[in-house]
Amino acid sequence: MKTYDDNNIFAKILRGEIPNDTVYEDDHVLAFRDINPQAPVHVLVIPKGAYVDMTDFSANASDAELTAYFRALAKIANLLGVEDDGYRLISNTGKNGEQDVPHLHVHIAGGRRLRRMLQPSED
Ligand code: AMP
Repeated sequence: MKTYDDNNIFAKILRGEIPNDTVYEDDHVLAFRDINPQAPVHVLVIPKGAYVDMTDFSANASDAELTAYFRALAKIANLLGVEDDGYRLISNTGKNGEQDVPHLHVHIAGGRRLRRMLQPSED
């Protein structure tokens, strides 16, 4: 099992040590705009609990955390106005998934037609 790193940037956001552009918050979930948006709408949705990635979260989160998280994803897409035209949810996991921040996050990307996924690796 991967060890959670308390010094990752999203842990610092959750502790209020780094500012963020919040779009949604409840007891279990925080959602904020990506600092380097790849689409007109690009929001990151994170659980408040300390989970490295989706593997960790799905195995170890409580039922309340799991329910709150997945209900929030759809609610936030609706709040962002991307529900009708569609959007993409992405959760990069680990090295091959190109995950940069080791705190579970799902990207919500939308607001334009997105390209097809999974370009070949450059290396
Ligand atoms: P990933 O590569 O899936 O781990 O995505 C990490 C995402 O976090 C990237 O899209 C970054 O632009 C974003 N990011 C990094 N630091 C911040 C920050 N301080 N506030 C908002 N988004 C951030």
